[in-house]
Amino acid sequence: MKGKERSTRPRTHSLPSFSTWVNKGFGLRQHASQMRDARLQPEISPASVFLALFHAFVFRLPSFQQLDSELSHSYLQHWIGAERAFRDDTLRYSLCGFDLQPLEAMLVDVNRRLKRSKALEEGKVQGRLVAALDGIEVLSSFSRHCDSCLERRVSRKDHAGRKIEETQYYHRAVGCQMVHGAIKPFLAIEWLQPGEGEETAARRLLRRLPGVYGSRFFDILLLDALYAQTPVLELAQQSGWDVVISLKQNSRDLYQSAVRLFARRPPDASFTEKQAHKTYQVQLWDTEGLPFTIDNPEPVRVVRSEEVLERKRFRQGQRVAHSTDHEWLWITTLPQSDFSAATIRQLGHRRWKQENNGWMDLSKHWAFKHGFLHACQHRPQRRNASGQREPVPNRGLAAVTLILLIAAALSGCFILRHSKLVRRDRLTAVAVAAQLRAWISKAPPSIRAPD
Ligand SMILES: [Zn+2]
Repeated sequence: MKGKERSTRPRTHSLPSFSTWVNKGFGLRQHASQMRDARLQPEISPASVFLALFHAFVFRLPSFQQLDSELSHSYLQHWIGAERAFRDDTLRYSLCGFDLQPLEAMLVDVNRRLKRSKALEEGKVQGRLVAALDGIEVLSSFSRHCDSCLERRVSRKDHAGRKIEETQYYHRAVGCQMVHGAIKPFLAIEWLQPGEGEETAARRLLRRLPGVYGSRFFDILLLDALYAQTPVLELAQQSGWDVVISLKQNSRDLYQSAVRLFARRPPDASFTEKQAHKTYQVQLWDTEGLPFTIDNPEPVRVVRSEEVLERKRFRQGQRVAHSTDHEWLWITTLPQSDFSAATIRQLGHRRWKQENNGWMDLSKHWAFKHGFLHACQHRPQRRNASGQREPVPNRGLAAVTLILLIAAALSGCFILRHSKLVRRDRLTAVAVAAQLRAWISKAPPSIRAPD
Protein backbone atom coordinates (compact mmCIF):
# COMPACT_ATOMS: atom_id res chain seq x y z
CA MET A 1 0.00 0.00 0.00
CA LYS A 2 2.76 2.32 0.98
CA GLY A 3 4.61 1.64 -2.26
CA LYS A 4 1.52 2.38 -4.33
CA GLU A 5 1.00 5.67 -2.52
CA ARG A 6 4.57 6.69 -3.18
CA SER A 7 4.39 5.97 -6.89
CA THR A 8 1.66 8.61 -7.38
CA ARG A 9 3.82 11.34 -5.85
CA PRO A 10 6.11 13.44 -8.04
CA ARG A 11 9.62 12.06 -8.19
CA THR A 12 11.48 15.21 -9.11
CA HIS A 13 10.85 18.95 -9.11
CA SER A 14 9.16 20.28 -12.20
CA LEU A 15 9.59 23.78 -13.55
CA PRO A 16 5.80 24.37 -13.67
CA SER A 17 5.52 23.78 -9.91
CA PHE A 18 8.39 26.20 -9.25
CA SER A 19 6.86 28.76 -11.64
CA THR A 20 3.38 28.53 -10.13
CA TRP A 21 4.86 29.11 -6.69
CA VAL A 22 7.05 32.01 -7.77
CA ASN A 23 4.30 33.69 -9.84
CA LYS A 24 1.58 33.37 -7.20
CA GLY A 25 3.74 34.15 -4.21
CA PHE A 26 6.12 36.73 -5.65
CA GLY A 27 4.61 38.06 -8.89
CA LEU A 28 7.55 37.03 -11.08
CA ARG A 29 5.76 37.59 -14.40
CA GLN A 30 4.26 40.89 -13.27
CA HIS A 31 7.68 42.13 -12.25
CA ALA A 32 9.20 40.86 -15.51
CA SER A 33 6.71 42.96 -17.47
CA GLN A 34 8.04 46.09 -15.71
CA MET A 35 11.62 45.62 -16.93
CA ARG A 36 13.08 48.30 -19.21
CA ASP A 37 16.34 48.84 -21.08
CA ALA A 38 17.91 51.46 -23.35
CA ARG A 39 17.30 49.71 -26.70
CA LEU A 40 14.82 51.25 -29.15
CA GLN A 41 12.01 48.93 -30.29
CA PRO A 42 13.86 45.70 -29.54
CA GLU A 43 12.67 42.41 -31.01
CA ILE A 44 13.48 40.57 -27.78
CA SER A 45 11.75 42.30 -24.89
CA PRO A 46 13.58 43.28 -21.67
CA ALA A 47 11.13 40.90 -19.91
CA SER A 48 12.52 37.96 -21.95
CA VAL A 49 16.11 39.00 -21.23
CA PHE A 50 15.32 39.22 -17.51
CA LEU A 51 13.53 35.84 -17.46
CA ALA A 52 16.35 34.16 -19.42
CA LEU A 53 18.95 35.31 -16.93
CA PHE A 54 16.69 34.63 -13.93
CA HIS A 55 16.30 31.01 -15.06
CA ALA A 56 20.03 30.74 -15.82
CA PHE A 57 20.68 31.52 -12.15
CA VAL A 58 17.87 29.27 -10.86
CA PHE A 59 19.29 26.39 -12.96
CA ARG A 60 22.81 27.40 -11.85
CA LEU A 61 24.10 27.36 -15.40
CA PRO A 62 27.90 27.64 -15.30
CA SER A 63 28.24 30.35 -17.97
CA PHE A 64 26.43 32.66 -20.32
CA GLN A 65 27.55 30.47 -23.22
CA GLN A 66 25.59 27.70 -21.53
CA LEU A 67 22.53 29.93 -21.38
CA ASP A 68 23.05 30.65 -25.08
CA SER A 69 23.03 26.92 -25.75
CA GLU A 70 19.94 26.29 -23.56
CA LEU A 71 18.07 29.00 -25.47
CA SER A 72 18.75 27.31 -28.80
CA HIS A 73 18.47 23.63 -27.79
CA SER A 74 15.91 23.39 -25.00
CA TYR A 75 12.37 24.65 -24.44
CA LEU A 76 13.59 27.56 -22.34
CA GLN A 77 12.84 30.05 -25.12
CA HIS A 78 9.17 28.97 -25.20
CA TRP A 79 8.98 28.78 -21.45
CA ILE A 80 10.02 32.39 -20.94
CA GLY A 81 7.79 33.52 -23.81
CA ALA A 82 10.66 34.86 -25.91
CA GLU A 83 9.75 36.20 -29.32
CA ARG A 84 12.44 34.09 -31.03
CA ALA A 85 15.71 32.37 -30.13
CA PHE A 86 18.42 34.82 -29.12
CA ARG A 87 22.09 34.71 -28.30
CA ASP A 88 24.40 36.10 -25.67
CA ASP A 89 25.13 39.22 -27.76
CA THR A 90 21.45 40.22 -27.34
CA LEU A 91 21.67 39.52 -23.61
CA ARG A 92 24.79 41.65 -23.31
CA TYR A 93 23.45 44.55 -25.40
CA SER A 94 20.20 44.65 -23.40
CA LEU A 95 21.80 44.26 -19.95
CA CYS A 96 24.42 46.99 -20.54
CA GLY A 97 21.61 49.53 -20.71
CA PHE A 98 19.21 47.86 -18.28
CA ASP A 99 17.07 50.06 -16.02
CA LEU A 100 18.04 49.17 -12.44
CA GLN A 101 14.98 50.68 -10.79
CA PRO A 102 12.47 47.86 -11.61
CA LEU A 103 15.08 45.28 -10.51
CA GLU A 104 15.64 47.08 -7.21
CA ALA A 105 11.87 47.40 -6.73
CA MET A 106 11.50 43.66 -7.33
CA LEU A 107 14.23 42.77 -4.82
CA VAL A 108 12.51 44.92 -2.19
CA ASP A 109 9.12 43.39 -3.00
CA VAL A 110 10.52 39.83 -2.80
CA ASN A 111 12.02 40.57 0.62
CA ARG A 112 8.81 42.19 1.89
CA ARG A 113 6.80 39.14 0.77
CA LEU A 114 9.33 36.80 2.41
CA LYS A 115 8.90 38.69 5.66
CA ARG A 116 5.10 38.85 5.38
CA SER A 117 4.89 35.10 4.73
CA LYS A 118 6.98 34.53 7.90
CA ALA A 119 9.86 32.99 5.93
CA LEU A 120 12.28 35.09 8.01
CA GLU A 121 10.85 34.06 11.40
CA GLU A 122 12.99 30.98 11.91
CA GLY A 123 16.29 31.51 13.71
CA LYS A 124 15.46 34.89 15.21
CA VAL A 125 17.75 35.86 18.10
CA GLN A 126 15.70 36.71 21.24
CA GLY A 127 12.85 37.54 18.86
CA ARG A 128 15.01 39.91 16.78
CA LEU A 129 15.80 39.86 13.06
CA VAL A 130 19.49 40.13 12.22
CA ALA A 131 21.20 41.61 9.15
CA ALA A 132 24.90 41.95 8.30
CA LEU A 133 26.93 44.26 6.12
CA ASP A 134 29.86 42.98 4.07
CA GLY A 135 32.03 43.88 1.14
CA ILE A 136 32.82 41.78 -1.93
CA GLU A 137 35.14 42.23 -4.84
CA VAL A 138 34.27 41.05 -8.33
CA LEU A 139 35.82 41.05 -11.79
CA SER A 140 39.47 41.81 -11.18
CA SER A 141 41.49 42.14 -14.37
CA PHE A 142 44.81 43.50 -15.62
CA SER A 143 43.53 44.21 -19.12
CA ARG A 144 39.75 44.64 -19.36
CA HIS A 145 38.35 47.72 -17.69
CA CYS A 146 35.44 50.14 -17.87
CA ASP A 147 34.64 53.73 -16.82
CA SER A 148 33.58 52.81 -13.30
CA CYS A 149 36.42 50.41 -12.48
CA LEU A 150 38.40 50.83 -9.28
CA GLU A 151 42.17 50.66 -9.73
CA ARG A 152 45.17 49.66 -7.65
CA ARG A 153 48.85 48.94 -8.22
CA VAL A 154 49.74 45.29 -7.76
CA SER A 155 53.12 43.59 -8.01
CA ARG A 156 53.34 40.17 -9.59
CA LYS A 157 55.86 38.02 -11.40
CA ASP A 158 56.00 37.87 -15.18
CA HIS A 159 56.69 34.71 -17.24
CA ALA A 160 60.43 35.05 -16.69
CA GLY A 161 59.95 35.33 -12.93
CA ARG A 162 60.76 39.04 -12.79
CA LYS A 163 58.79 41.18 -10.38
CA ILE A 164 56.64 43.73 -12.19
CA GLU A 165 54.14 46.33 -11.01
CA GLU A 166 50.86 46.72 -12.86
CA THR A 167 47.51 48.42 -12.58
CA GLN A 168 44.73 46.04 -11.64
CA TYR A 169 41.10 46.91 -12.32
CA TYR A 170 38.23 45.62 -10.20
CA HIS A 171 34.75 46.28 -8.85
CA ARG A 172 33.71 46.19 -5.24
CA ALA A 173 30.33 46.44 -3.55
CA VAL A 174 28.86 46.43 -0.05
CA GLY A 175 25.85 44.17 0.50
CA CYS A 176 23.32 43.97 3.33
CA GLN A 177 22.04 40.43 3.95
CA MET A 178 19.65 38.84 6.46
CA VAL A 179 21.69 36.29 8.41
CA HIS A 180 19.79 34.89 11.40
CA GLY A 181 17.99 32.03 9.63
CA ALA A 182 18.52 29.48 6.90
CA ILE A 183 16.99 31.80 4.27
CA LYS A 184 19.51 34.59 3.78
CA PRO A 185 18.25 37.10 1.22
CA PHE A 186 20.24 40.22 0.34
CA LEU A 187 18.28 43.41 1.00
CA ALA A 188 20.40 45.74 -1.12
CA ILE A 189 23.86 46.35 -2.51
CA GLU A 190 25.86 49.50 -3.13
CA TRP A 191 28.80 49.74 -5.57
CA LEU A 192 31.95 51.63 -4.63
CA GLN A 193 32.65 54.55 -6.96
CA PRO A 194 36.21 55.11 -8.20
CA GLY A 195 38.33 56.66 -5.47
CA GLU A 196 35.96 56.10 -2.55
CA GLY A 197 36.37 53.86 0.49
CA GLU A 198 34.17 50.94 1.46
CA GLU A 199 32.80 52.79 4.50
CA THR A 200 31.50 55.60 2.25
CA ALA A 201 29.50 53.10 0.16
CA ALA A 202 28.35 51.39 3.37
CA ARG A 203 27.03 54.65 4.80
CA ARG A 204 25.18 55.34 1.54
CA LEU A 205 23.63 51.87 1.75
CA LEU A 206 22.58 52.33 5.39
CA ARG A 207 21.01 55.70 4.62
CA ARG A 208 19.08 54.19 1.68
CA LEU A 209 17.71 51.11 3.51
CA PRO A 210 15.08 52.73 5.78
CA GLY A 211 13.64 54.60 2.79
CA VAL A 212 12.94 51.41 0.84
CA TYR A 213 12.19 48.91 3.62
CA GLY A 214 11.21 51.04 6.63
CA SER A 215 13.64 51.20 9.54
CA ARG A 216 12.24 48.20 11.42
CA PHE A 217 12.62 45.62 8.66
CA PHE A 218 15.36 44.14 10.85
CA ASP A 219 16.47 44.87 14.42
CA ILE A 220 20.18 44.07 14.76
CA LEU A 221 22.98 44.95 12.34
CA LEU A 222 26.28 43.03 12.39
CA LEU A 223 29.30 44.98 11.19
CA ASP A 224 32.97 44.51 10.41
CA ALA A 225 35.73 46.34 12.32
CA LEU A 226 36.04 48.69 9.34
CA TYR A 227 32.69 50.23 10.28
CA ALA A 228 33.52 50.89 13.95
CA GLN A 229 33.07 54.62 13.31
CA THR A 230 30.96 57.35 14.87
CA PRO A 231 28.96 58.16 11.67
CA VAL A 232 27.96 54.50 11.33
CA LEU A 233 26.90 54.28 15.00
CA GLU A 234 24.85 57.45 14.57
CA LEU A 235 23.17 56.17 11.42
CA ALA A 236 22.23 52.94 13.19
CA GLN A 237 20.89 54.88 16.16
CA GLN A 238 18.74 57.10 13.94
CA SER A 239 17.24 54.04 12.24
CA GLY A 240 16.61 52.26 15.54
CA TRP A 241 18.98 49.37 14.82
CA ASP A 242 21.13 47.79 17.50
CA VAL A 243 24.65 46.90 16.37
CA VAL A 244 27.28 44.26 17.03
CA ILE A 245 30.62 45.39 15.60
CA SER A 246 33.76 43.29 15.64
CA LEU A 247 36.71 45.17 17.03
CA LYS A 248 40.31 44.75 15.97
CA GLN A 249 43.55 46.05 17.39
CA ASN A 250 43.54 48.93 14.93
CA SER A 251 40.44 50.26 16.72
CA ARG A 252 42.81 52.10 19.05
CA ASP A 253 41.70 53.41 22.48
CA LEU A 254 38.59 51.32 22.99
CA TYR A 255 40.38 48.06 22.23
CA GLN A 256 43.19 48.89 24.66
CA SER A 257 40.98 50.09 27.50
CA ALA A 258 38.85 46.94 27.17
CA VAL A 259 41.87 44.64 27.16
CA ARG A 260 43.37 46.46 30.19
CA LEU A 261 40.11 46.29 32.12
CA PHE A 262 39.50 42.59 31.38
CA ALA A 263 43.12 41.60 32.20
CA ARG A 264 42.51 42.51 35.84
CA ARG A 265 39.58 40.21 36.45
CA PRO A 266 38.42 36.61 35.97
CA PRO A 267 36.06 35.83 33.06
CA ASP A 268 32.36 36.57 33.52
CA ALA A 269 31.43 33.27 31.87
CA SER A 270 33.20 30.15 30.68
CA PHE A 271 31.90 27.08 28.88
CA THR A 272 32.72 24.35 26.40
CA GLU A 273 31.02 24.15 23.03
CA LYS A 274 31.15 21.10 20.77
CA GLN A 275 30.57 21.34 17.02
CA ALA A 276 31.11 18.12 15.06
CA HIS A 277 34.85 17.36 15.39
CA LYS A 278 35.65 20.74 16.93
CA THR A 279 35.63 21.70 20.61
CA TYR A 280 35.73 25.31 21.76
CA GLN A 281 36.85 26.25 25.31
CA VAL A 282 35.35 29.69 25.69
CA GLN A 283 36.02 32.41 28.29
CA LEU A 284 33.96 35.59 28.10
CA TRP A 285 34.41 39.05 29.57
CA ASP A 286 31.64 41.61 29.39
CA THR A 287 31.41 45.26 30.43
CA GLU A 288 29.07 48.15 29.78
CA GLY A 289 29.93 51.85 29.77
CA LEU A 290 33.31 52.09 28.00
CA PRO A 291 33.74 55.33 26.01
CA PHE A 292 33.62 54.66 22.24
CA THR A 293 36.40 57.13 21.39
CA ILE A 294 37.98 60.18 22.99
CA ASP A 295 36.06 62.41 20.56
CA ASN A 296 32.83 60.48 20.97
CA PRO A 297 32.64 59.27 24.61
CA GLU A 298 29.23 57.64 24.03
CA PRO A 299 29.31 54.62 26.38
CA VAL A 300 29.29 51.21 24.65
CA ARG A 301 29.30 47.62 25.82
CA VAL A 302 32.36 45.49 25.03
CA VAL A 303 32.45 41.67 24.98
CA ARG A 304 35.72 39.77 24.70
CA SER A 305 36.01 36.07 23.92
CA GLU A 306 39.14 34.02 24.46
CA GLU A 307 38.74 30.70 22.68
CA VAL A 308 40.84 27.57 22.48
CA LEU A 309 39.79 25.52 19.49
CA GLU A 310 40.66 21.84 19.74
CA ARG A 311 40.27 19.51 16.82
CA LYS A 312 41.41 16.05 15.92
CA ARG A 313 43.50 15.74 12.81
CA PHE A 314 44.91 12.78 10.99
CA ARG A 315 48.68 12.92 10.70
CA GLN A 316 50.40 9.91 9.12
CA GLY A 317 47.46 7.69 9.97
CA GLN A 318 47.34 8.88 13.59
CA ARG A 319 44.65 10.93 15.26
CA VAL A 320 46.40 13.97 16.68
CA ALA A 321 44.83 16.64 18.87
CA HIS A 322 45.55 20.11 17.59
CA SER A 323 44.67 23.33 19.38
CA THR A 324 44.76 27.00 18.43
CA ASP A 325 44.06 30.18 20.42
CA HIS A 326 41.68 32.85 19.20
CA GLU A 327 40.67 36.23 20.56
CA TRP A 328 37.56 38.18 19.58
CA LEU A 329 36.19 41.52 20.71
CA TRP A 330 32.85 43.07 19.89
CA ILE A 331 31.16 46.31 20.77
CA THR A 332 27.40 46.33 20.97
CA THR A 333 24.42 48.51 21.82
CA LEU A 334 22.42 45.44 22.98
CA PRO A 335 21.79 45.53 26.77
CA GLN A 336 23.22 42.91 29.16
CA SER A 337 19.77 42.41 30.65
CA ASP A 338 18.39 40.81 27.44
CA PHE A 339 21.47 39.59 25.58
CA SER A 340 24.07 37.53 27.45
CA ALA A 341 27.74 37.70 26.49
CA ALA A 342 27.34 34.22 24.98
CA THR A 343 24.58 35.53 22.69
CA ILE A 344 26.74 38.49 21.62
CA ARG A 345 29.53 36.01 20.81
CA GLN A 346 27.13 33.95 18.69
CA LEU A 347 25.98 37.05 16.81
CA GLY A 348 29.58 38.14 16.26
CA HIS A 349 30.56 34.77 14.85
CA ARG A 350 27.51 34.76 12.63
CA ARG A 351 28.85 37.80 10.81
CA TRP A 352 32.15 36.04 10.37
CA LYS A 353 30.39 32.94 9.11
CA GLN A 354 28.49 35.00 6.61
CA GLU A 355 31.79 36.02 5.03
CA ASN A 356 31.98 32.37 4.11
CA ASN A 357 28.32 31.83 3.31
CA GLY A 358 27.08 35.07 1.85
CA TRP A 359 28.88 36.60 -1.09
CA MET A 360 31.33 33.73 -1.25
CA ASP A 361 28.50 31.30 -1.87
CA LEU A 362 27.19 33.51 -4.66
CA SER A 363 30.56 33.81 -6.37
CA LYS A 364 31.45 30.14 -5.94
CA HIS A 365 28.19 28.36 -6.65
CA TRP A 366 26.27 30.87 -8.71
CA ALA A 367 28.67 31.59 -11.57
CA PHE A 368 28.89 35.17 -10.41
CA LYS A 369 32.36 35.93 -11.72
CA HIS A 370 31.50 36.18 -15.38
CA GLY A 371 33.09 39.31 -16.71
CA PHE A 372 31.16 39.15 -19.94
CA LEU A 373 29.68 42.60 -19.45
CA HIS A 374 32.67 44.26 -17.97
CA ALA A 375 34.28 46.25 -20.73
CA CYS A 376 31.31 46.18 -23.04
CA GLN A 377 31.96 48.86 -25.67
CA HIS A 378 28.91 47.92 -27.75
CA ARG A 379 26.10 49.66 -25.91
CA PRO A 380 22.86 51.41 -26.87
CA GLN A 381 23.30 55.14 -27.59
CA ARG A 382 21.49 58.16 -26.24
CA ARG A 383 21.80 61.92 -26.72
CA ASN A 384 23.67 63.84 -24.04
CA ALA A 385 22.89 67.41 -22.86
CA SER A 386 24.69 68.96 -25.83
CA GLY A 387 22.79 66.79 -28.32
CA GLN A 388 25.62 64.40 -29.14
CA ARG A 389 25.10 60.65 -29.28
CA GLU A 390 27.02 58.65 -26.68
CA PRO A 391 26.75 55.14 -25.23
CA VAL A 392 24.54 54.82 -22.11
CA PRO A 393 26.44 54.21 -18.84
CA ASN A 394 27.28 50.51 -18.49
CA ARG A 395 24.87 49.09 -15.93
CA GLY A 396 25.41 45.48 -16.96
CA LEU A 397 27.24 44.30 -13.87
CA ALA A 398 24.78 45.98 -11.50
CA ALA A 399 21.81 44.52 -13.42
CA VAL A 400 23.22 40.97 -13.49
CA THR A 401 24.01 41.19 -9.76
CA LEU A 402 20.45 42.27 -8.89
CA ILE A 403 18.95 39.44 -10.99
CA LEU A 404 21.28 37.01 -9.21
CA LEU A 405 20.20 38.28 -5.76
CA ILE A 406 16.51 37.92 -6.72
CA ALA A 407 17.07 34.39 -8.09
CA ALA A 408 19.11 33.35 -5.03
CA ALA A 409 16.46 34.62 -2.57
CA LEU A 410 13.60 32.85 -4.39
CA SER A 411 15.52 29.59 -4.95
CA GLY A 412 16.57 29.57 -1.30
CA CYS A 413 13.01 30.00 -0.08
CA PHE A 414 11.66 27.38 -2.52
CA ILE A 415 14.23 24.83 -1.42
CA LEU A 416 14.25 25.47 2.32
CA ARG A 417 10.61 26.28 2.94
CA HIS A 418 8.34 25.25 0.11
CA SER A 419 9.61 21.97 -1.33
CA LYS A 420 8.49 18.71 0.27
CA LEU A 421 10.74 16.69 -2.04
CA VAL A 422 13.84 18.35 -0.60
CA ARG A 423 12.97 17.01 2.85
CA ARG A 424 11.76 13.62 1.61
CA ASP A 425 14.77 12.95 -0.65
CA ARG A 426 17.31 15.07 1.30
CA LEU A 427 18.25 16.98 -1.82
CA THR A 428 20.95 19.60 -1.98
CA ALA A 429 20.24 23.00 -3.52
CA VAL A 430 22.45 22.09 -6.48
CA ALA A 431 20.44 18.89 -7.05
CA VAL A 432 17.16 20.86 -7.09
CA ALA A 433 18.65 23.29 -9.63
CA ALA A 434 19.67 20.33 -11.81
CA GLN A 435 16.12 18.84 -11.64
CA LEU A 436 14.53 22.13 -12.69
CA ARG A 437 17.05 22.49 -15.50
CA ALA A 438 16.49 18.90 -16.71
CA TRP A 439 12.76 19.59 -17.00
CA ILE A 440 13.34 22.25 -19.67
CA SER A 441 15.02 19.68 -21.93
CA LYS A 442 12.22 17.13 -21.55
CA ALA A 443 9.17 19.37 -21.88
CA PRO A 444 6.99 19.20 -24.99
CA PRO A 445 7.28 22.40 -27.04
CA SER A 446 3.62 23.36 -26.63
CA ILE A 447 4.09 23.97 -22.93
CA ARG A 448 4.40 27.56 -21.85
CA ALA A 449 4.72 29.00 -18.37
CA PRO A 450 1.48 29.85 -16.57
CA ASP A 451 0.82 33.61 -16.63
ZN1 LIG B 1 34.96 47.90 -14.75
